[in-house]
Amino acid sequence: EAKQAGRNALRFFDPRMQQAVQERLRLEDEIRRGLTAGEFVIHFQPQIERHRGLVGAEVLVRWQHPQRGLLTPFHFIGPAERAGLIEALDFVVLTQACEQLATWAKQPSRAALTLAVNLSASLLYQADFVDRVLALLKRTGANPRLLKLEITESLLLDDMEEAVVRMRTLKQHGIRFSIDDFGTGYSSMAYLQRLPLDQLKIDQSFVRQLVEDASSQTIIRATCALASGLKLEVIAEGVETEEQRTLLIANGCDMFQGYLFSRPVPLEAFEALELEPVT
Ligand code: C2E
Ligand code: MG
Ligand code: MG
Ligand code: MG
Repeated sequence: EAKQAGRNALRFFDPRMQQAVQERLRLEDEIRRGLTAGEFVIHFQPQIERHRGLVGAEVLVRWQHPQRGLLTPFHFIGPAERAGLIEALDFVVLTQACEQLATWAKQPSRAALTLAVNLSASLLYQADFVDRVLALLKRTGANPRLLKLEITESLLLDDMEEAVVRMRTLKQHGIRFSIDDFGTGYSSMAYLQRLPLDQLKIDQSFVRQLVEDASSQTIIRATCALASGLKLEVIAEGVETEEQRTLLIANGCDMFQGYLFSRPVPLEAFEALELEPVT
């Protein structure tokens, strides 16, 4: 054991290790600074319904870094989680989304657009989360019915009962919930019964294999049947080709998000998009 500890101690003082630790701390400081400086911004990726065209967007966070340029979540979500900064970051995103909904409410052509925001487990489980969200809605005047919170199956592992209670309360106020990356987690069926959900979001891995792999078609068809039986909306993410979209429609999925329609874009570009119904 002493030998083990000695080895660990040696490894700790390995200069490369030390450099990695320092880089991590520097990044955490940077995120903290970026949050204060308002460098985290939201981009919008359109969500399209087959018959209605553009119905809303998913909000995706970006970091407008002064030296490194525009960074995607890959570069900072993990570090923000480890540093205990993800709750603050998510709340900044949620705030911007609510402010945008309130702005659109005054524009007839955009007043019905919905926004979907990704929610991390640590924010959901924060003691005053529900109160903070309700206060935010009140302050911004955003219509809760146009706000959708995306949660992942892994988020539920922490404390399912507590998650259900909080989701129910928010749902009573009109907020909707979507299960992100659906089909990639573990106990899909059990929680489908217990959670107050509104939407299943088919993970992009199934969409990617849709054309070559018949089993993906079967999985998507089954997911759509399940969703329809449970009166849940279903949306596919990562739709990149017309062929995928056609197969999704053939298998019962009428809502799409993906590069075929648009990448996530800043507000001005999103508002300039003209997305027509598919049929
Ligand atoms: P996600 O919520 O599953 O979001 C979908 C991701 O797939 C986005 O990556 C989006 O840009 C990308 N995507 C969309 N359409 C396509 C497509 O057709 N093809 C391909 N290959 N990719 C597509 P992004 O923006 O890099 O975000 C990655 C992940 O970071 C998100 O996955 C989400 O889990 C997380 N994330 C993003 N914004 C937030 C946030 O505000 N808070 C938290 N906690 N997580 C966030
Ligand atoms: Mg998402
Ligand atoms: Mg997803
Ligand atoms: Mg994902």
